[in-house]
Amino acid sequence: MAEQPVESSMEKIVSLCKRRGFVFQSSEIYGGFNGFWDYGPYGIALKRAIERLWWNYMVESRNNVVGLDSTIICHPKTWKASGHVDRFGDIMCDCKVCKTRFRVDQMPDPATCTNCGSHDLTEPREFNLMMKTYVGPVFDEDHIAYLRAETCQPIFLDFHNIRIATRMQLPFGIAQVGKAFRNEITPRMFTFRSREFSQMEMEFFCADEGSMEWFEYWRDQRWNFYKLLNIDESKLRLAPHDKLAHYAKAAVDIEYQYPFGWGELEGIHHRGTWDMSQHQKFSEQPLEYLDQTTNTRFLPTVVETSVGLDRMTLAVLCNAYDEDRAPTQKEGMEDDVRIVLHFPASVAPVQVAFLPLSKKLNDNAQELQKKFIGRYRTELDVTGNIGKRYRRQDEIGTPFCVTFDFDSLEDNAVTVRERDTMKQDRVPVDGLKAYLDAKIFGE
Ligand code: ATP
Repeated sequence: MAEQPVESSMEKIVSLCKRRGFVFQSSEIYGGFNGFWDYGPYGIALKRAIERLWWNYMVESRNNVVGLDSTIICHPKTWKASGHVDRFGDIMCDCKVCKTRFRVDQMPDPATCTNCGSHDLTEPREFNLMMKTYVGPVFDEDHIAYLRAETCQPIFLDFHNIRIATRMQLPFGIAQVGKAFRNEITPRMFTFRSREFSQMEMEFFCADEGSMEWFEYWRDQRWNFYKLLNIDESKLRLAPHDKLAHYAKAAVDIEYQYPFGWGELEGIHHRGTWDMSQHQKFSEQPLEYLDQTTNTRFLPTVVETSVGLDRMTLAVLCNAYDEDRAPTQKEGMEDDVRIVLHFPASVAPVQVAFLPLSKKLNDNAQELQKKFIGRYRTELDVTGNIGKRYRRQDEIGTPFCVTFDFDSLEDNAVTVRERDTMKQDRVPVDGLKAYLDAKIFGE
């Protein structure tokens, strides 16, 4: 992949995302709303495909993990028990000169404003990140509720309901994908730090004995997952936490080297019995598990894998972005630049585009497309000359373009153009399914 200057490559990705309908600023006509992003047609297709891949890998392909879709707002005591209401805050300080606000743990040592270099900073202060709302008709202290700050807490609340309903025995996991909300003080780096985002979390419940082996198992499983997304391994690293929470036995992040630097993509945490014991205390309900083989009761130990879907989607976009330069033959003309997103076919928003060579062939191309709707994510692309359409499909990362031309009427064959090699194959229509299946599912 061609090397890109750091700043500009991020700007280029942001601009491509807007131009091609991946990600827009929320409420742009009102000037935008900091920390909130909308996914356009190609963005949501990409994000859903990544989510489906995660769900398949973590839930559907295993017998020991089941799913949950809980509410975003749950009993406010949940967040008292989890510690979010009292402690979930970043320590921040402001630069008195340029007014930029920083997280103290991300400042250089000695503390200096990374924007203007000033040492004139306010005292560090704590900011709570929970988003508050009111449930019911009265807007007072007694009716305060919170939008969940992470998707995992409701998993702990539903543990026994799920265990009883599914007859699962330890060890087993519960996974959930959904929105989380944090009133981030400094949303930044595009979707990397947003105020509304999606998480994909799995809590694995087990006995304390053997739990470190489960931690290592899930760390390795999660690392291997990124191979399915073709993420460049040199841009991934494991970062064990230096400081552990008092209840935690081990914690490691998977970081990705975004164009703006290394950033946390995913966390794998050994959380001990902390969560279950807190909810037991605050709910005053017995939350122990009865091990029928040994007839002992204990609180399950939890190993968690937690990743942001938006951060993963951004990593996939950054990893896929590339520019090919073909020198032009004409003197004084700039090089011809082809922007291309090298998505793996499994997550590409459009997997196969159907391109009639001429308007007169629109119906034929559409008829052909119909045979593949439901099998692949497809698009009928009819506007502009064929070269422009190929470029457009490259920019949205479509791995295969199928062109229906006048010869197709005679030879019942089409031209399949591959995004990465730009090679073109003449394929009989009758063999097109087998040809594309092998390329798309056989990866
Ligand atoms: P950070 O240190 O970057 O704030 P965190 O340690 O608070 O992250 P966790 O609470 O462990 O993050 O959340 C799990 C995952 O959720 C993170 O690894 C990240 O992918 C995602 N995530 C957390 N905060 C945000 C956010 N503001 N915007 C987008 N994704 C987020």
